[in-house]
Amino acid sequence: MKLIFDEKVLDYQGTLGFKQRLICAYEFLKHHHSFIKPEIKITEPLVHTRELIKKVKERNFFNPDSPAYENIYNYAILALNSAIKAQEIQGFSLLEPPGHHAGKNFLGGFCYFNNIAEAVKQSNLKTLIMDIDGHHGNGTQDIFENDPDVFYISLHRSPLYPGTGLNSKNNILNLPLPADCGERIYLETLQKAIKKAQGNFKFKQIAISAGFDTYQGDLASLNLTKDSYRKIGKIIKKLSQKTNSRVFAVLEGGYTTNLGELIHEFTSSISE
Ligand SMILES: [Zn+2]
Repeated sequence: MKLIFDEKVLDYQGTLGFKQRLICAYEFLKHHHSFIKPEIKITEPLVHTRELIKKVKERNFFNPDSPAYENIYNYAILALNSAIKAQEIQGFSLLEPPGHHAGKNFLGGFCYFNNIAEAVKQSNLKTLIMDIDGHHGNGTQDIFENDPDVFYISLHRSPLYPGTGLNSKNNILNLPLPADCGERIYLETLQKAIKKAQGNFKFKQIAISAGFDTYQGDLASLNLTKDSYRKIGKIIKKLSQKTNSRVFAVLEGGYTTNLGELIHEFTSSISE
Protein backbone atom coordinates (compact mmCIF):
# COMPACT_ATOMS: atom_id res chain seq x y z
CA MET A 1 0.00 0.00 0.00
CA LYS A 2 1.25 3.46 -0.84
CA LEU A 3 1.34 5.97 2.00
CA ILE A 4 -0.12 9.44 1.79
CA PHE A 5 1.86 11.96 3.78
CA ASP A 6 2.72 15.65 3.95
CA GLU A 7 5.66 16.95 5.98
CA LYS A 8 3.52 19.91 7.08
CA VAL A 9 2.06 17.61 9.74
CA LEU A 10 5.45 17.38 11.46
CA ASP A 11 4.68 20.82 12.97
CA TYR A 12 1.31 19.66 14.30
CA GLN A 13 0.98 19.82 18.08
CA GLY A 14 0.08 16.15 18.22
CA THR A 15 -2.69 13.82 19.26
CA LEU A 16 -2.85 13.50 23.05
CA GLY A 17 0.41 15.43 23.15
CA PHE A 18 2.28 12.60 21.38
CA LYS A 19 3.96 14.97 18.95
CA GLN A 20 6.76 12.48 18.33
CA ARG A 21 4.57 9.62 17.16
CA LEU A 22 4.30 10.66 13.52
CA ILE A 23 7.87 11.94 13.39
CA CYS A 24 9.17 8.51 14.54
CA ALA A 25 6.77 6.63 12.27
CA TYR A 26 7.76 8.73 9.28
CA GLU A 27 11.49 8.26 9.99
CA PHE A 28 11.01 4.49 9.99
CA LEU A 29 8.59 4.25 7.09
CA LYS A 30 10.55 6.42 4.68
CA HIS A 31 13.13 3.63 4.37
CA HIS A 32 10.46 1.16 3.26
CA HIS A 33 7.80 3.11 1.39
CA SER A 34 7.29 5.86 -1.12
CA PHE A 35 4.96 8.71 -0.18
CA ILE A 36 2.35 10.63 -2.08
CA LYS A 37 1.25 14.11 -1.06
CA PRO A 38 -2.45 14.83 -0.66
CA GLU A 39 -4.08 17.52 -2.80
CA ILE A 40 -6.58 19.89 -1.26
CA LYS A 41 -9.80 19.07 -3.09
CA ILE A 42 -12.34 19.57 -0.32
CA THR A 43 -12.51 22.47 2.12
CA GLU A 44 -16.08 21.90 3.32
CA PRO A 45 -16.74 18.32 4.45
CA LEU A 46 -20.10 16.75 3.52
CA VAL A 47 -20.41 14.62 6.64
CA HIS A 48 -20.50 17.51 9.15
CA THR A 49 -22.97 20.29 9.90
CA ARG A 50 -22.25 23.87 8.81
CA GLU A 51 -22.22 24.70 12.49
CA LEU A 52 -19.33 22.32 13.30
CA ILE A 53 -17.33 23.38 10.23
CA LYS A 54 -17.70 27.04 11.25
CA LYS A 55 -16.65 26.28 14.84
CA VAL A 56 -13.46 24.53 13.73
CA LYS A 57 -12.70 27.22 11.14
CA GLU A 58 -13.02 29.97 13.75
CA ARG A 59 -11.46 27.90 16.57
CA ASN A 60 -14.60 28.76 18.44
CA PHE A 61 -15.00 25.69 20.66
CA PHE A 62 -13.91 24.39 24.00
CA ASN A 63 -13.29 20.68 24.45
CA PRO A 64 -10.59 19.43 26.82
CA ASP A 65 -10.14 16.31 24.63
CA SER A 66 -9.75 18.35 21.43
CA PRO A 67 -7.73 21.53 21.95
CA ALA A 68 -8.33 24.51 19.64
CA TYR A 69 -4.75 24.38 18.34
CA GLU A 70 -3.46 27.13 16.11
CA ASN A 71 -4.24 26.40 12.43
CA ILE A 72 -6.36 23.43 13.47
CA TYR A 73 -8.72 23.89 10.53
CA ASN A 74 -5.84 23.63 8.03
CA TYR A 75 -4.46 20.49 9.68
CA ALA A 76 -7.91 18.90 9.85
CA ILE A 77 -8.59 19.73 6.19
CA LEU A 78 -5.19 18.31 5.17
CA ALA A 79 -5.90 15.03 7.00
CA LEU A 80 -9.36 14.90 5.42
CA ASN A 81 -7.96 15.29 1.92
CA SER A 82 -5.28 12.73 2.68
CA ALA A 83 -8.02 10.20 3.48
CA ILE A 84 -9.75 11.08 0.19
CA LYS A 85 -6.46 10.46 -1.63
CA ALA A 86 -6.06 7.13 0.20
CA GLN A 87 -9.51 6.13 -1.06
CA GLU A 88 -8.62 7.10 -4.63
CA ILE A 89 -5.35 5.18 -4.79
CA GLN A 90 -6.20 2.40 -2.29
CA GLY A 91 -3.46 3.62 0.03
CA PHE A 92 -2.87 4.44 3.68
CA SER A 93 -3.26 7.97 5.01
CA LEU A 94 -0.47 8.75 7.48
CA LEU A 95 -1.68 12.12 8.73
CA GLU A 96 -3.33 13.52 11.81
CA PRO A 97 -5.51 14.73 13.49
CA PRO A 98 -7.39 11.41 13.50
CA GLY A 99 -11.13 11.40 12.87
CA HIS A 100 -13.27 8.56 14.21
CA HIS A 101 -14.50 10.44 17.32
CA ALA A 102 -15.87 13.34 15.23
CA GLY A 103 -19.61 13.03 14.55
CA LYS A 104 -22.03 15.01 12.38
CA ASN A 105 -22.21 17.88 14.84
CA PHE A 106 -19.54 17.17 17.41
CA LEU A 107 -15.79 16.88 17.80
CA GLY A 108 -13.91 14.97 20.52
CA GLY A 109 -11.03 12.69 21.40
CA PHE A 110 -8.49 14.76 19.43
CA CYS A 111 -10.67 14.39 16.31
CA TYR A 112 -12.12 17.44 14.51
CA PHE A 113 -13.37 16.15 11.15
CA ASN A 114 -14.08 12.50 10.40
CA ASN A 115 -11.48 11.62 7.75
CA ILE A 116 -12.63 8.11 6.94
CA ALA A 117 -16.31 9.05 6.87
CA GLU A 118 -15.67 11.86 4.40
CA ALA A 119 -13.57 9.61 2.13
CA VAL A 120 -16.30 6.95 2.16
CA LYS A 121 -19.01 9.55 1.46
CA GLN A 122 -17.07 11.11 -1.42
CA SER A 123 -16.46 7.70 -3.00
CA ASN A 124 -20.18 6.87 -3.40
CA LEU A 125 -19.38 3.17 -2.97
CA LYS A 126 -21.11 0.68 -0.71
CA THR A 127 -18.54 0.33 2.03
CA LEU A 128 -17.68 -1.93 4.93
CA ILE A 129 -15.89 0.20 7.52
CA MET A 130 -13.69 -1.80 9.87
CA ASP A 131 -12.60 0.23 12.87
CA ILE A 132 -9.67 -1.58 14.49
CA ASP A 133 -8.63 1.31 16.74
CA GLY A 134 -8.81 0.36 20.42
CA HIS A 135 -11.41 3.05 21.12
CA HIS A 136 -14.97 3.00 19.81
CA GLY A 137 -15.51 5.22 16.75
CA ASN A 138 -18.53 7.02 18.14
CA GLY A 139 -18.28 9.75 15.49
CA THR A 140 -18.27 7.31 12.58
CA GLN A 141 -21.25 5.47 14.08
CA ASP A 142 -23.10 8.79 14.49
CA ILE A 143 -22.52 9.70 10.84
CA PHE A 144 -23.52 6.35 9.31
CA GLU A 145 -26.17 4.92 11.65
CA ASN A 146 -29.03 3.65 9.43
CA ASP A 147 -27.16 4.55 6.22
CA PRO A 148 -27.99 1.75 3.74
CA ASP A 149 -24.65 2.24 1.94
CA VAL A 150 -22.40 1.57 4.93
CA PHE A 151 -21.86 -1.27 7.38
CA TYR A 152 -19.73 -0.38 10.39
CA ILE A 153 -17.77 -2.88 12.50
CA SER A 154 -15.81 -1.76 15.55
CA LEU A 155 -13.64 -3.89 17.82
CA HIS A 156 -12.63 -1.87 20.85
CA ARG A 157 -11.57 -2.17 24.44
CA SER A 158 -14.27 -1.68 27.06
CA PRO A 159 -14.66 0.00 29.48
CA LEU A 160 -12.72 2.87 27.95
CA TYR A 161 -13.16 6.35 26.44
CA PRO A 162 -15.63 7.41 24.98
CA GLY A 163 -17.78 4.83 26.78
CA THR A 164 -20.00 4.11 23.75
CA GLY A 165 -20.12 1.08 21.45
CA LEU A 166 -21.61 -1.37 23.90
CA ASN A 167 -24.56 -2.37 21.70
CA SER A 168 -25.13 -3.18 18.04
CA LYS A 169 -28.03 -2.15 15.79
CA ASN A 170 -28.97 -2.43 12.11
CA ASN A 171 -25.82 -1.53 10.18
CA ILE A 172 -23.65 -1.05 13.28
CA LEU A 173 -21.76 -4.00 14.79
CA ASN A 174 -19.98 -3.13 18.01
CA LEU A 175 -17.70 -5.68 19.65
CA PRO A 176 -16.37 -4.53 23.01
CA LEU A 177 -13.42 -6.59 24.26
CA PRO A 178 -11.82 -6.84 27.71
CA ALA A 179 -8.42 -5.22 28.35
CA ASP A 180 -5.46 -7.26 27.09
CA CYS A 181 -7.69 -10.02 25.67
CA GLY A 182 -4.88 -11.10 23.33
CA GLU A 183 -4.54 -12.00 19.67
CA ARG A 184 -6.48 -15.27 19.60
CA ILE A 185 -9.70 -13.75 20.95
CA TYR A 186 -9.19 -10.63 18.86
CA LEU A 187 -8.81 -12.46 15.55
CA GLU A 188 -11.70 -14.83 16.29
CA THR A 189 -13.94 -11.84 17.04
CA LEU A 190 -12.80 -10.10 13.87
CA GLN A 191 -13.53 -13.16 11.71
CA LYS A 192 -17.01 -13.53 13.23
CA ALA A 193 -17.72 -9.85 12.64
CA ILE A 194 -16.67 -10.10 9.00
CA LYS A 195 -18.87 -13.13 8.48
CA LYS A 196 -21.84 -11.32 9.96
CA ALA A 197 -21.22 -8.22 7.84
CA GLN A 198 -20.97 -10.33 4.68
CA GLY A 199 -24.23 -12.04 5.49
CA ASN A 200 -26.03 -8.71 5.88
CA PHE A 201 -24.47 -6.43 3.34
CA LYS A 202 -22.94 -6.44 -0.15
CA PHE A 203 -20.04 -4.04 -0.36
CA LYS A 204 -17.62 -2.83 -3.02
CA GLN A 205 -15.08 -1.25 -0.70
CA ILE A 206 -13.39 -1.91 2.65
CA ALA A 207 -12.32 1.18 4.61
CA ILE A 208 -10.09 0.65 7.63
CA SER A 209 -9.97 3.03 10.57
CA ALA A 210 -6.46 1.88 11.37
CA GLY A 211 -5.62 2.54 15.00
CA PHE A 212 -2.67 0.78 16.59
CA ASP A 213 -3.35 1.59 20.24
CA THR A 214 -4.46 -2.04 20.74
CA TYR A 215 -0.73 -2.87 20.74
CA GLN A 216 0.62 -4.37 23.97
CA GLY A 217 1.08 -1.68 26.60
CA ASP A 218 -0.47 1.11 24.51
CA LEU A 219 -3.41 3.26 25.65
CA ALA A 220 -6.12 0.80 24.62
CA SER A 221 -4.02 -2.36 24.85
CA LEU A 222 -5.64 -5.62 23.79
CA ASN A 223 -2.18 -7.13 24.04
CA LEU A 224 -1.71 -7.44 20.28
CA THR A 225 1.82 -7.92 18.92
CA LYS A 226 3.58 -6.69 15.80
CA ASP A 227 2.66 -9.94 14.07
CA SER A 228 -1.03 -9.45 14.92
CA TYR A 229 -1.21 -6.45 12.56
CA ARG A 230 0.26 -8.58 9.78
CA LYS A 231 -2.43 -11.19 10.43
CA ILE A 232 -5.18 -8.54 10.46
CA GLY A 233 -3.85 -7.21 7.15
CA LYS A 234 -3.93 -10.69 5.64
CA ILE A 235 -7.53 -11.20 6.74
CA ILE A 236 -8.48 -7.92 5.08
CA LYS A 237 -6.60 -8.82 1.91
CA LYS A 238 -8.37 -12.17 1.69
CA LEU A 239 -11.74 -10.51 2.22
CA SER A 240 -11.07 -7.94 -0.50
CA GLN A 241 -10.08 -10.68 -2.95
CA LYS A 242 -13.12 -12.77 -2.12
CA THR A 243 -15.55 -9.87 -2.47
CA ASN A 244 -13.68 -8.07 -5.23
CA SER A 245 -13.57 -4.93 -3.09
CA ARG A 246 -11.28 -1.93 -3.03
CA VAL A 247 -9.33 -1.32 0.21
CA PHE A 248 -7.96 1.81 1.83
CA ALA A 249 -6.92 2.78 5.35
CA VAL A 250 -6.67 5.89 7.47
CA LEU A 251 -4.54 6.31 10.61
CA GLU A 252 -6.42 6.79 13.89
CA GLY A 253 -4.60 6.17 17.22
CA GLY A 254 -1.38 4.36 18.16
CA TYR A 255 1.14 5.96 20.48
CA THR A 256 4.09 3.58 20.83
CA THR A 257 7.50 4.57 19.53
CA ASN A 258 7.41 1.65 17.08
CA LEU A 259 4.18 2.82 15.41
CA GLY A 260 6.06 2.88 12.09
CA GLU A 261 6.86 -0.83 12.31
CA LEU A 262 3.24 -1.69 13.11
CA ILE A 263 2.02 0.35 10.12
CA HIS A 264 4.63 -1.36 7.95
CA GLU A 265 3.48 -4.85 9.03
CA PHE A 266 -0.13 -3.93 8.37
CA THR A 267 0.23 -2.17 5.01
CA SER A 268 2.77 -4.59 3.54
CA SER A 269 0.60 -7.60 4.37
CA ILE A 270 -2.29 -6.05 2.45
CA SER A 271 -0.23 -5.37 -0.67
CA GLU A 272 1.86 -8.56 -0.66
ZN1 LIG B 1 -7.78 4.95 19.89
